[in-house]
Amino acid sequence: MHTIIVGAGFWGAVIAERMASVLDAEVTVIDERPHIGGNCHSSLDEETGIECHRYGSHIFHTSNEEVWNYINRFSAFNGYQHKVFTMCRGKVYTMPINLSTIENFYGRHMTPSEAEAFLQGEIARDHIDNPANLEEKAISLIGRPLYEAFIQGYTQKQWEHDPKLLPAYIITRLPFRTSYNANYFADPWQGVPVDGYFKIFERMLDNPRITLRLETSFESVRDSLSADTLVIYTGLPDRLFDYRFGELEWRSLRCEWEVVPVRDWQGTAVMNYADKDVPYTRIHEFKHYHPERTRPMLSPRSVICREYSRTWHRGDEAYYPVNDERNNALYAKYQAEAAKNPNLILGGRLGAYRYWDMDKAIADALATFREKIAPRFGK
Ligand code: UDP
Repeated sequence: MHTIIVGAGFWGAVIAERMASVLDAEVTVIDERPHIGGNCHSSLDEETGIECHRYGSHIFHTSNEEVWNYINRFSAFNGYQHKVFTMCRGKVYTMPINLSTIENFYGRHMTPSEAEAFLQGEIARDHIDNPANLEEKAISLIGRPLYEAFIQGYTQKQWEHDPKLLPAYIITRLPFRTSYNANYFADPWQGVPVDGYFKIFERMLDNPRITLRLETSFESVRDSLSADTLVIYTGLPDRLFDYRFGELEWRSLRCEWEVVPVRDWQGTAVMNYADKDVPYTRIHEFKHYHPERTRPMLSPRSVICREYSRTWHRGDEAYYPVNDERNNALYAKYQAEAAKNPNLILGGRLGAYRYWDMDKAIADALATFREKIAPRFGK
């Protein structure tokens, strides 16, 4: 049996690596793009030597030891701990909202227990017992004034949906704290690969049993596949079935790149912009991800990228699934259609239509390999 893996992002690359190295199976990996790595792709800016995450910042973080051990086989990680700031009404605050954000926003010192009691009072004013959407969930966690300053405008820009119509779980990605802990992620293992994301993917796919074909769409090869080919598909599920039940919604991004003639543009890797009237959601400055790389760090220039969120249209890169009721129900139809074909496995952030971080995609790929793929090969 031959296997074709459609998509060379993390999910597809893990499956390819496992199949080739554990099962000794021959696999072909195809990707439409001219590079491997999916949205985790990175490359060096020629002028400054700064590694740029070409589809927005990617910080590896996980609480899953299996995933951490697995990924460390392909690169060590530096000790980068993600800290984000947000520009709101002309002032910079710590994000996620923590004690420092609360104090600076309300203009007075509070101890953690004073802040908790104060926020309970703010939260109680809206009488939300069972938060049913992103807005209600956020207000029930931090109260309306902080919500309106830091979440409402950013979320509206990011999703172009009224936060009342978005699922509550999106906001639970963000921690809210009444301590000074400013770490964006709470996971025990965090960092950015010392050798770069591009090296991780090169190493994962560097196996004589893996054939890689870039700039190759599934549509261009599907008619030439034999009937018993195992198709592992990480692309858009609706596209696979010619959009027969309708189109799934996605958010896409536009990145506006600039090499700026200063050593340090914004003093941190990511600055969010909470105000609705600023058209971008955040600015990334990539040199800050590698304080250990002396030459790019000391370069008198820096590479920044302004990130604009936009509605996905066919042909755009898909970034975020819009997991509301309509889209989830539509996805279920495509999933049921896929399940009718025993030689088809859907997966990855696109194929599963899930808002996954890198570690979740890797964990899911490892589980899929163990449970659905290895048994087919008698392992
Ligand atoms: N969010 C916000 N303000 C911020 C940062 C995030 O309102 O300054 C909300 C927004 O709705 C976003 C969600 O929190 O979609 C999750 O943010 P996260 O940083 O996890 O998004 P990602 O990095 O995956 O784009």
